[in-house]
Amino acid sequence: MTGFSFTLNATDGRARTGVIQTPRGEIRTPAFMPVGTAATVKAMLPESVRATGADILLGNTYHLMLRPGAERIARLGGLHRFMNWDRPILTDSGGFQVMSLAELRKLTEEGVTFASHVDGSRHFLSPETSMEIQRLLGSDIVMAFDECPALPATHERQAEAMRLSMRWAQRSRDAFGDRPGHALFGIMQGGVERDLREESAEALRRIGFDGYAIGGLAVGEGQEAMFGVLDYATDLLPEDQPRYLMGVGKPDDIVGAVQRGVDMMDCVLPSRSGRTGQAWTRRGQVNIKNARHADDPRPLDEHCTCPACTGYSRAYLHHVFRAGEMISGMLLTWHNLHYYQEIMQGMRDAIAGGTLDAWVATFHAQRAEGDIPPL
Ligand SMILES: [Zn+2]
Repeated sequence: MTGFSFTLNATDGRARTGVIQTPRGEIRTPAFMPVGTAATVKAMLPESVRATGADILLGNTYHLMLRPGAERIARLGGLHRFMNWDRPILTDSGGFQVMSLAELRKLTEEGVTFASHVDGSRHFLSPETSMEIQRLLGSDIVMAFDECPALPATHERQAEAMRLSMRWAQRSRDAFGDRPGHALFGIMQGGVERDLREESAEALRRIGFDGYAIGGLAVGEGQEAMFGVLDYATDLLPEDQPRYLMGVGKPDDIVGAVQRGVDMMDCVLPSRSGRTGQAWTRRGQVNIKNARHADDPRPLDEHCTCPACTGYSRAYLHHVFRAGEMISGMLLTWHNLHYYQEIMQGMRDAIAGGTLDAWVATFHAQRAEGDIPPL
């Protein structure tokens, strides 16, 4: 399609690095997408998100359709203009969040009727309405509408949900139509059942998408089960198109997923953790709330070049968190997003240089050391 393409530049084992070209700019892969749920990455200005190295943001259809409304965003010039982010945006379909957040849900072949968690108002989402809402938002990468059943679920329940999602994938493809410069990704389902994953991948490939997501993971199955699926699932998808693992994850999840051939990921974790006093560093997780930081003049991570680490001490970060100051969430979110993007850049460089195994070994060794000892 015009204006949207994926170029694979290098592989190392099953890991890949490349570039997704869109009319709104390049997305270097493997890519981590910060989550801008309500048209904002919480506690960050868009230019600050860009400064961390992010090429693309994720927006949530479910949240935006309820508040402020897709038609309103369209009238105000689309989501990019509305939130002052002119680079690519991927929107989810609303399917996952309607299942996890909405009330009084009624699921039929046609779609899902539900009550808003904001004000109780009634809404309907289907493949067709989801495509229309994502078009109104002006999303660059649109996700097919799917159903993700809560785990644990029986094989039969998962098969049923997956087959419904595949029928919805076809309807999403039909409703999306031909939109040059915009991409539509299909979503593989099937939980942790290999036969269902294979059937799902085949159905999606038959329909044909601009990229393929792996859905239904990071929903409580644990890292080992998730990697177990990724061990074969990425190979079921076309080599020459991007592969997106939805909702992942912790730094070691991200590294393991890239090693297994994933190109894109998103997660609220770095931004959410930043607001609860949790920092992710090369030496693992740091809880800035802990009293051990109260008199510590050292930075969170002496090697990190983010504003939180170059300008402030652990003692300051501890103080502003304890005092409930807004700058606490701002600084820790910036650091966490910066660290995540540093991981992505490190992996992109290592894959290009054929040294990913060594990079991963260092990544794990540094984490195993743990945080610097208290003073
Ligand atoms: Zn930092």
